[in-house]
Amino acid sequence: MQDFSLAIHGGAGTILKSKMTAAQEAAYLQALEGALQAGRSLLEQGKSAEEAVTAAVCALEDADLFNAGRGSVFTHEGGHEMEASIMRGADLQAGGVAGISSVKNPILLAAEIMQDPDWVFLSGAGAEDYARERKLAFESPEYFYSQYRYEQWQGMKESTGAILDHSDDRKFGTVGAVALDKQGNLAAATSTGGLTNKRYGRLGDSAVIGSGTYANNATCAISCTGYGEYFLRAVVAYDVSCLMEYKGLSLKDACHVVVQQKLKTMGGEGGLIAVDSKGAIELAFNCEGMYRGWTTRQSPTLHTAIYK
Ligand code: ASP
Repeated sequence: MQDFSLAIHGGAGTILKSKMTAAQEAAYLQALEGALQAGRSLLEQGKSAEEAVTAAVCALEDADLFNAGRGSVFTHEGGHEMEASIMRGADLQAGGVAGISSVKNPILLAAEIMQDPDWVFLSGAGAEDYARERKLAFESPEYFYSQYRYEQWQGMKESTGAILDHSDDRKFGTVGAVALDKQGNLAAATSTGGLTNKRYGRLGDSAVIGSGTYANNATCAISCTGYGEYFLRAVVAYDVSCLMEYKGLSLKDACHVVVQQKLKTMGGEGGLIAVDSKGAIELAFNCEGMYRGWTTRQSPTLHTAIYK
């Protein structure tokens, strides 16, 4: 039997045990386990890495604890503008979508785009037209609404800034998944509501191939979470892959250089999950915590963790 590996994240930031109740902690761990199970069962059946990461991210989008799909943060105008992307390591096909407000599962739209030879990155109303043509599910603003996101936005909507959704007391985040399947193929997927109180059509790294998401069978699959402005400028996901491809670094060393050295020097808080072509997993972050989980064929437990 061939090996497989799967890792997921639900955002990284100032996540402190002292600020979390036992019930909250249990709810996150349970949601992470559900997403791991969704992806793992497909990998066990011999399904592709892209199917596994799509299923895991869908599960996280559907859980309103995380800032993606249902439960996405509010923009300055009081709406939701979601972003998602997916990439397949076998042929470097990719799909990204940004600035959408009513597609139920943004990652399913990114996956549709990836299958289409004509497009890689779609946005706004046009992307929603595309989703309608593909018969994807839509939801009303009430579906995406959550009370705590609303309060979070109320607390800062008079300010000019935007905040990482997990940099205050409510630390839930962007979601992502990376996988190696039994056929030896890699895939990565990421989905987010972006930053609370964002405006001017602000976009982060999550939907940008090479910054928030990257997969290449020759190296690794990566999904990032953190302050998008830094992750964009550091081209984080592709940089990890490049360090492996051109400098021969191991996955572990490449992640360390990018997350603990390069990003840290710039002031870029956050982390990433990664899997390489041999199935090794890295969960790297330079902040207090990252909602995360992993499972492999050899280690069937659904491992989950939150803090450092
Ligand atoms: N990277 C995301 C963004 O900047 C935020 C996050 O990871 O939570 O939009």
